[in-house]
Amino acid sequence: MTRRFTEKRLVIASHNPGKVREIADLLSPFGVDVVPAAEFGLAEPEETGVTFAENAILKAHAATLACGLPALADDSGLAVDALDGRPGIHSARWAGEERDFAAAMARLEQEMEGIPDRRARFVCALALAWPDKEGATPETVVFEGTVEGTLVFPPRGDKGFGYDPIFVPEGYDVTFGEMAGHKKHAISHRANAFAGLVAECFNG
Ligand code: IMP
Repeated sequence: MTRRFTEKRLVIASHNPGKVREIADLLSPFGVDVVPAAEFGLAEPEETGVTFAENAILKAHAATLACGLPALADDSGLAVDALDGRPGIHSARWAGEERDFAAAMARLEQEMEGIPDRRARFVCALALAWPDKEGATPETVVFEGTVEGTLVFPPRGDKGFGYDPIFVPEGYDVTFGEMAGHKKHAISHRANAFAGLVAECFNG
């Protein structure tokens, strides 16, 4: 059986304020004291995994071992069909050190020039890890979620973060960048992965 989360405090192993905000919102009904990793002054580990899940586990382990508290990490990104899944796990890196997503979206627009297939999906892997066994690999659970959609250029809307302004989720005609936060939270890849996490570890 999947381990349930019964502790009071949970470290969010992310330095991305957009993600920390969304995760805190999604966890707010469960009365968990959510602490951003930045409050512990933790450095971000190098993301050497080749999948979203591997990178999420890597980040959750680094945080849980450093803080001695359970840690939740999210590794996510945008996978474009016509680009064989790129930028994928490199989504953040496309924006460079300066986190310049206008530049990352411009690069994507350039790479998509003349390509009619605009299908893409956001993918999210969540890893929750516990530090309790001294010297052992932290006990870990992983959940994945996706949301299908299409890319539009130029970018539209100033809500959300990252690639939100160029992503129109299936069944809608507005981008995530134009959508109220609570609407995105109801259908996003992160919400999807969260549904699994909550069902297994927080509810019941
Ligand atoms: P990570 O911190 O290595 O997981 O990088 C994830 C990157 O994927 C973010 O910096 C964004 O570029 C992109 N991304 C992930 N989730 C979202 C989202 O919900 N909206 C927009 N971009 C996202």
